[in-house]
Amino acid sequence: MTLDIQTAGQIDRASFFHPFTSVADLMRDGPTIMVEGQGVRVTDIHGREYLDGMAGLWCVNMGYGHPAITEAIAAQSRKLSYFHAFNSMSTDVAIECAEEVLKRAPVPMARVFFGVSGSDANETQLKLIWYYNNLRGLPKKKKIIARKYGYHGSGVATASLTGLPSMHGLFDLPQGPFLHVSSPHYYRNAPDGVSEREFSRQLAAELEALIAREGADTIAAFFAEPVMGAGGLIAPPEGYFEAIVPILRAHDILLVMDEVVSGFGRLGTYWGSQAIGVEPDLITAAKGITSGYFPMSACLVSPKIWDVIEKGSETAGLFGHGYTYSAHPVGAAAALATMKAIDEQKVVANVAELAPYLHESLKRALGDHAHVGEIRGRGFMVGIELVADRATKAPFKPELRTGRQVLKAAAERGLITRALGDTLVFAPPLVFTRKDIDELVSKFSAAIEAVEPSWL
Ligand code: PLP
Repeated sequence: MTLDIQTAGQIDRASFFHPFTSVADLMRDGPTIMVEGQGVRVTDIHGREYLDGMAGLWCVNMGYGHPAITEAIAAQSRKLSYFHAFNSMSTDVAIECAEEVLKRAPVPMARVFFGVSGSDANETQLKLIWYYNNLRGLPKKKKIIARKYGYHGSGVATASLTGLPSMHGLFDLPQGPFLHVSSPHYYRNAPDGVSEREFSRQLAAELEALIAREGADTIAAFFAEPVMGAGGLIAPPEGYFEAIVPILRAHDILLVMDEVVSGFGRLGTYWGSQAIGVEPDLITAAKGITSGYFPMSACLVSPKIWDVIEKGSETAGLFGHGYTYSAHPVGAAAALATMKAIDEQKVVANVAELAPYLHESLKRALGDHAHVGEIRGRGFMVGIELVADRATKAPFKPELRTGRQVLKAAAERGLITRALGDTLVFAPPLVFTRKDIDELVSKFSAAIEAVEPSWL
């Protein structure tokens, strides 16, 4: 790198339009500039090392600088750095990648469509669903149900599908046939004294009432993350999917599992669908498919949907959808190397074994803290919600920016977390060890202790 530290910060502020960033914060505090990563650690421009408790953005599952993945990327870019997949064109690596992804699917899947991001994959799913119902002669069956606080991407349609108000207002969204039901947030939304199972039944009743009101003949699909990530780290309450799925099936509504975060091992099963016991019609994957090393996404399509597309193609003609970088050979090589490494290093079993230790260690250290409202999640996804008052669950005043203060204090101690409001989240690389967990818990506890005086 040729830039000195001060110049890099100035140029960043002057030229770089950052995603999901408060411009005011950036102008005030400047960027944090990372320059290296190895294993579960990254190093910034000042030479400070951080334990990455977020695996980048829930994606660097195999850790940084994995020799087999980096080598596969380098070798493929030398051999065939690009070719497309339009008009029946293909590449050897994309073919192998498609087969390997389908081999690992949690339920039999007929085809996989490749894109470059979770957002474009969910856009593909939406278009596929509409295409499918048009081919079936059901042109009215187009509405899509998602959940408040669900996160499905940043495109016009996928941000509309997303249930986060901050992604709607100033962008003139939502637009399109999108409906949102309540979030399955037991801690925040369940009425007092209601069990998880009863809360799940109430949510199922809400869904059923919505379908009755709108007409099942107008509703095409239901989108859900197995565990909600960016919307606040919300695991489904007991009995939730058990109650929801039969309603969808009864009304011929497709179930789309958004496994952008949970796919490829994060919940201690290869797929989140297996962790929550559902059989989806469509699965969206991204992030972990290449361990975040190359932009790549996958839409897994069930035989039921594929049959209609295949039979309809004689009359429908060209499937008019795709991206220049769909099935990019370098991405496919990265995905193949990642899937192989996941198997060889047995990281799914590692998560299954260590996730209870992660959750219990955090609970032991912070579970009784006066300002920790709830420690929740599943697998290598954990959220710690901070509250002003534990008894009433009253949140801190937003202007205190408590979550951000803790995030900064953690960074000062060499730990990366993420603040979703006042819920601090961790989604570490799947190669995390017991020792890494101990370090995470100790640094995070120290960060909370350091910030605590400002809450009083
Ligand atoms: N779906 C889920 C569940 C996600 O968490 C994300 C990103 O975090 C997306 C979709 C969008 O993925 P991308 O940022 O790659 O477009």
